[in-house]
Amino acid sequence: MYIRKLFAQKRCVFSLEFFPPKQQLKWEPLQQTLRRVQQVHPDFISVTCSAGGSGVGQVSTSQVASFLKNELDIEPLAHLTCVGADQAGIEATLDELFTAGVRNLMVLRGDKRPGVEQFRDFQHASDLCAFVRGHYGAFGLSGACYPEKHPESATLREDVEHLKIKQECGATHLCTQMFFDNFYFYRYMTLIRKEGIDLPVSAGVMPIVRKSQIERTLALSDAKLPPKFQSLLDRWQDDPDGLYQAGIDYAVEQLRDLIEAGADGVHLYAMNSADVVLRIYEGIKDLLPDAP
Ligand code: FAD
Repeated sequence: MYIRKLFAQKRCVFSLEFFPPKQQLKWEPLQQTLRRVQQVHPDFISVTCSAGGSGVGQVSTSQVASFLKNELDIEPLAHLTCVGADQAGIEATLDELFTAGVRNLMVLRGDKRPGVEQFRDFQHASDLCAFVRGHYGAFGLSGACYPEKHPESATLREDVEHLKIKQECGATHLCTQMFFDNFYFYRYMTLIRKEGIDLPVSAGVMPIVRKSQIERTLALSDAKLPPKFQSLLDRWQDDPDGLYQAGIDYAVEQLRDLIEAGADGVHLYAMNSADVVLRIYEGIKDLLPDAP
């Protein structure tokens, strides 16, 4: 099933993100986690990839995607980055993903990192988008977008101009970077619709349930913290159980507001935790009309 079709059928598409573990040892536990998550019937699950590809011995994106599709009957959205990649490498990965049963890709540039060669055959995610659209028409294409702008963009408006190119190059769905204040999402949606971007957009929400997540998450996303969120962190940072519950509650409130406001879809950055998914699902399922 192409993901864009889900958006035509459903009032709000509910999806999750998981990442492949670095060691094969953790593959079996992840399979158990995904089996538990199956009971909430996510519309799709996206599977991240490392920029530059999985290392030797690591669980690959296609391995996880294939498990979702062929063992659990859940639609996978496989991430594919192009920073430092050449066309032959991308073609090999596309063939591997196609054989694994993947029909939906999240096409990304990936972060520029020291040690990862930059800009070989693809400079921007939109270049990868155009290439896949032109040569592998069987894939549905999703792209990333940034309600608080991508850190490399000078302004939000400039970032949205670039997002338009992604749409023109064949993306049919967008998923946002995480944000902690829905204001930024609503402002962004108004702006992109005004600029003629009419693709369905999944709003990305990450529950912060552990102290160790906080700095890393904020460094990666550039997301601003609203005062309410900041005071939650201040209050619970030395109480792991309290922070866990407060993080779940905050994400549930954010998601409920997004669904009630008519978001096309909500995408939960699940951090490979079935408990987080199940608890959050309990808090929002009454708003998901197609929930079992
Ligand atoms: P692009 O769309 O290429 O944008 C990057 C920058 O270039 C932006 O500033 C943009 O405005 C600008 N730009 C874009 N197109 C043009 C153009 N045509 N001309 C000039 N400037 C342009 N990273 C991973 O390594 N693995 C993952 O699995 C992964 N999954 C992600 C999922 C989501 C939903 C999101 C939001 C991010 C994810 N990332 C992942 C992080 C992502 O790779 C980084 O944010 C990266 O820095 C940018 O990727 P992009 O696809 O948005 O790039």
